[in-house]
Amino acid sequence: MQPPSIDRAYLIATLADLIRINSVNPSLTPGAPGEVAIAAYVADALRRLGLDVSVLEAHPGRPSVAALLRGTGEGRALMLNAHLDTVGVEGMADPFTPILRDGKMYGRGAYDMKGSLAACLATAKALVDGKVTLRGNLLLAAVADEEYASLGTAAVARQFPVDAAIVTEPTELDLCIAHKGFVWLEVETLGRAAHGSRFFDGVDANMRMGRFLGLLDRLEHDVRGRPAHPLVGPPSLHAPTLHGGTELSTYSARCALGIERRTVPGETAAGVQAEIEALIEKASAADPTFQGSARCILARNAFEVSPAAPIVAAVRAAATDHLGRSPALIGKPFWMDSALLADAGVETVIIGPVGNGAHTTDEWIDVGSLEDLAAILARAAVSYCQ
Ligand SMILES: [Zn+2]
Repeated sequence: MQPPSIDRAYLIATLADLIRINSVNPSLTPGAPGEVAIAAYVADALRRLGLDVSVLEAHPGRPSVAALLRGTGEGRALMLNAHLDTVGVEGMADPFTPILRDGKMYGRGAYDMKGSLAACLATAKALVDGKVTLRGNLLLAAVADEEYASLGTAAVARQFPVDAAIVTEPTELDLCIAHKGFVWLEVETLGRAAHGSRFFDGVDANMRMGRFLGLLDRLEHDVRGRPAHPLVGPPSLHAPTLHGGTELSTYSARCALGIERRTVPGETAAGVQAEIEALIEKASAADPTFQGSARCILARNAFEVSPAAPIVAAVRAAATDHLGRSPALIGKPFWMDSALLADAGVETVIIGPVGNGAHTTDEWIDVGSLEDLAAILARAAVSYCQ
């Protein structure tokens, strides 16, 4: 069949509208508006295309949109996933005024990832305009809160089961089949508060944390020396926060250390925590006054999908047919919603547009690559949903 053709004017106008709507994540910037207005815009746009639209509010005031282009029969169901929220706009002169210049659209969220969201809408429009009949359902998921706790993807994945998903975070039109995860931990050492003169009473929690940090430093070297994953590199860790003690004349009773451990596919949060606990046991064995504990604050798994998985094959073929070249199979160092979908049993791959400046003041998206993305998504939907 003819590949569905993309309405470039619709794509650009939609992207400009999306940038004009402030959707800064309120969990990152207190008081920011979040997804209410942009979800209403997206829901309305998809209703006008004739899709069956639901607005899910897993958390009050944090809506996600799930829109079904219904298939005719028993074909496989596919989700296109993009997030509605953006990071903050500090330092940006005019973040919500879209500017189109030299084939690039500038504005907050253009790259991460309102461009992709506009491409997903253009994909739906191309299939509707082209009167393409899919057998399986195509689900457009425009989700809340990816930049913080991923409330939206978790909610949509629970309510709308699909066989596969394409997450459309930017990949420069390459095919991302692996990314890292992370584990946030807090290690606490306990001492005994005492007047600064009473060395025979006081136990210094900060000095004990120093011993732990010495051990952690050695673990850090060890971790980075482990065999690197071929697409995402080696695991790593750092100690970004440290708080201990109350005042200069008092022995510190408590010290708390934040640790971020970046994980590679195959590593688990439990395994990471056990490595940290082994250091605490080592310090305790050397000195019975050492009292420490570790707890996990948040864990997000790493992600990996087989290059032979049907969704990877479908997107790879679609991209090759459209671009006239085979996209590279790549990994990304940062975490994305793809891991949540994979953990929920949904076969997932990531492909997105060309641009730059995510989370910076100079953010832009290459509009031509959005047209390419929309065309690839439409072709992939046609082949996968049969
Ligand atoms: Zn993003």
